[in-house]
Amino acid sequence: MAERIGFIGLGIMGKPMARNLVAAGYELVVFSRTRASVDDLVAEGPGYVAAGSAREVAGAVSTVITMLPDSADVRDVVFGEAGILPEMGDGDLLVDMSTIAPATAREVGTALADNGAAALDAPVSGGDKGAIAGTLSIMVGGEAADFERAMPLFQAMGKTIVHVGAAGAGQVVKACNQVVVAIAYAAVSEALVLGSKAGVDPAKVIEVLGGGLAATRVMELRGASMVAHEFDPGFRVDLHRKDLGIALATAREAGVPLPATALVGQLFDALAAAGGGDRDHSSLITLFEGLAGHEVGSAGG
Ligand code: NAD
Repeated sequence: MAERIGFIGLGIMGKPMARNLVAAGYELVVFSRTRASVDDLVAEGPGYVAAGSAREVAGAVSTVITMLPDSADVRDVVFGEAGILPEMGDGDLLVDMSTIAPATAREVGTALADNGAAALDAPVSGGDKGAIAGTLSIMVGGEAADFERAMPLFQAMGKTIVHVGAAGAGQVVKACNQVVVAIAYAAVSEALVLGSKAGVDPAKVIEVLGGGLAATRVMELRGASMVAHEFDPGFRVDLHRKDLGIALATAREAGVPLPATALVGQLFDALAAAGGGDRDHSSLITLFEGLAGHEVGSAGG
């Protein structure tokens, strides 16, 4: 009989991750705040069982995966009125794959350990494309034995899977990841606007930079859609603002200035203030276009 796993949070990332687990032979007990996401999966066929609350999920399985927007959502699913905590005891494991504050991950880990259960913080990188393809990078904090236990689940969803340290360490590494991605988007935006306004076809810029030291997955995966101004998410500007807030708070605690991250964080704030919080974070390029008075790919380049 297929092993039953709980999955809570069926959004842009959670849904394809759940599909990959079912494709690998697991049966999933699923719940999400938006009922339509649950119904969509159940309608896809066997492999999914709908639950009416997070607590109902935890009551039906011994391993629960969460993929929620923010720290407050994870706290709600763990500690809230219909939260999983009372159902998490000896032998139970929470694998939280959301991107949240390391301090919240440690708080959740301690609360579960007090009940005899275990927790891993296992945020991911690779975007919706990686989630669909099952090629996510997964950075995991927690006990080594729990990491080994969750490994078959991770292998169904990801390709690069690394145990990076104790509870909270996965979220610290994810903050590092988001620092690099944010600054890379700013760099790619500047380069594409410069090349284009100075008269070069941006497709050529993308093609040749991809073969040299300036190669970056940001340009490889999103360069063409940035030039085409296709900004459906993907990864929402508001989620990246949340992640840079986590990175800056973690850096302040650690005594590390992050001046470049702070600057790009302000630029994402500007996008959100202008009503663009729900667009893909690659829409950052529109700010640089505004500064230059030039739309990439228009006359001149
Ligand atoms: P999303 O907003 O599309 O999905 C979140 C889902 O969680 C929604 O279906 C929502 O209904 C559900 N939810 C929220 N609060 C809930 C609650 N209290 N109880 C039950 N369900 C609840 O977000 P997403 O893009 O899938 O991102 C999820 C997490 O993954 C975030 O932490 C994000 O930072 C991270 N992440 C996203 C990407 C990406 O490219 N989208 C990439 C890497 C990591």
